[in-house]
Amino acid sequence: MKARIVTLPGDGVGPEVTAAAVAVLQAVAAHFDHEFAFEEHLIGGCAIDATGSPLPDASLKACQQADAVLLGAVGGPKWSDPQAPVRPEQGLLALRAALGVYANLRPLNVHPALAALSPLKEDKLRHVDVLFVRELTGGAYFGAKTRTPDTATDECKYTVAEVERVTRRAFELARERRRHVTSVDKANVLETSRLWRSTVQRIAAEYPDVKLEHQLVDSMAMLLLTQPGYYDVVVTENLFGDILTDEAAAIAGSLGLLPSASLGEGSRGLYEPIHGSAPDIAGKGVANPTGAILSAAMLLRHSLGLEDEAAHVEAAVAQVLEHGPHTRDIGGHAGTTDIRHAVIAALDEHV
Ligand code: ATP
Ligand code: MG
Repeated sequence: MKARIVTLPGDGVGPEVTAAAVAVLQAVAAHFDHEFAFEEHLIGGCAIDATGSPLPDASLKACQQADAVLLGAVGGPKWSDPQAPVRPEQGLLALRAALGVYANLRPLNVHPALAALSPLKEDKLRHVDVLFVRELTGGAYFGAKTRTPDTATDECKYTVAEVERVTRRAFELARERRRHVTSVDKANVLETSRLWRSTVQRIAAEYPDVKLEHQLVDSMAMLLLTQPGYYDVVVTENLFGDILTDEAAAIAGSLGLLPSASLGEGSRGLYEPIHGSAPDIAGKGVANPTGAILSAAMLLRHSLGLEDEAAHVEAAVAQVLEHGPHTRDIGGHAGTTDIRHAVIAALDEHV
C-alpha cells in the first residue's frame, strides 16, 4: 500500500528517537512491499526558533493531509520560561485539537526481562496488559480559565457527545482484547463525572458482551499498584488519564519504553512516545527509541490497518528487550542506533 507519513521530530531527543522509528518503518515497507512517503516538518521549540510559531501553518497543513503523523517530543529548558509569549507545548495541544484526536491510547505491558526495573514486585507484574483510553480534547485542559491576584479557576466541561465517542472507542478496543472496561471518574463529587458515568453506563448497553466496571479515580490510583494485572481497558477523562498513565508508566520501569496513539473519527492518527524531550540526555545518542518504535507499530495498526506488520515490529522489539542490546535507562550500555539496528535485524530474521 501507499501511505503518506508526516514526521514531527521536535526537540531534545525527539529527532533521535524519531529517526529510529522511521528507519524501522522503512524496513517494514521494504519487507512487505509498501510505499511509505515521509515528509518532515517543524513543531515545538525548534519551530518557534525558525518561524515564531510552535505549530507553523505548513506543519499543520501537512498533518491534515497525511495518513498518519509520527511525533518525537517538544519542549526544553531553552523555551521553558513561563512568561514567554509562546511555548512549545502549545503547538502540541493545538495539533491535537486541530486533528480532532480525542482518544489517547496508551498500552502498558511489562516485559518479563525488565521486571527487575519496575518498582513493583515480580508477582504483581504477571499478566499486566492494560490499555488506557484517555479523553484528550475536553475537560479542564480546554475549559475557560480565569485569574485575579488571589483567585484562579479552570472550567471542567464535558458534553454527552464527547463522552459517548471516547466510550465507544474504548468498548470497540475491548472487543479485540479481554472484553473488560473499567471506567474511572469521581462521580461522588464532580458533576462532570456523574454525566461521564451515566453516559458510559448507557453506551455499555450496546456492548452486552463487554463487562463494565466503574472505579473512583482515587481508588484507581491505589488499585493500579496493588492489582495491575486485573485491568484490561481503562477509560477516563483528560486530567485523570494524564495522571493515571504517568503512574502506569512508572510500573513499566522506564519512560523510554512506552508508546501512544491519539485517534479521532477517521483513520488519521498522531503517534508519539510518552516520554518528553529528555534535555538531560539530548544529543548524546543514548535515548531509548523503544517507545517511538512501538508508536510506529501502533501507526501501522491503527492508521494503515497493517496488523501483521505491526505485530512483526512488536515481536522484533520484544526480542531485543529479551536479548539486548539495552540502552542505559534499562541497565545497558547501547546507544539509540544500536537499538534501531538490532530491531531491524530481528525484523529481517522473522519476515
Ligand atoms: P515533558 O514535560 O516534556 O513530558 P518530562 O519532564 O516528563 O518531560 P522527560 O523529558 O520525559 O521528562 O524525561 C524524564 C526523565 O526520563 C529524564 O531523566 C530523561 O532522561 C528520561 N527519559 C525520557 N525519555 C527517555 C528515553 N527515550 N530514553 C532514556 N531516558 C529517557
Ligand atoms: Mg512528562
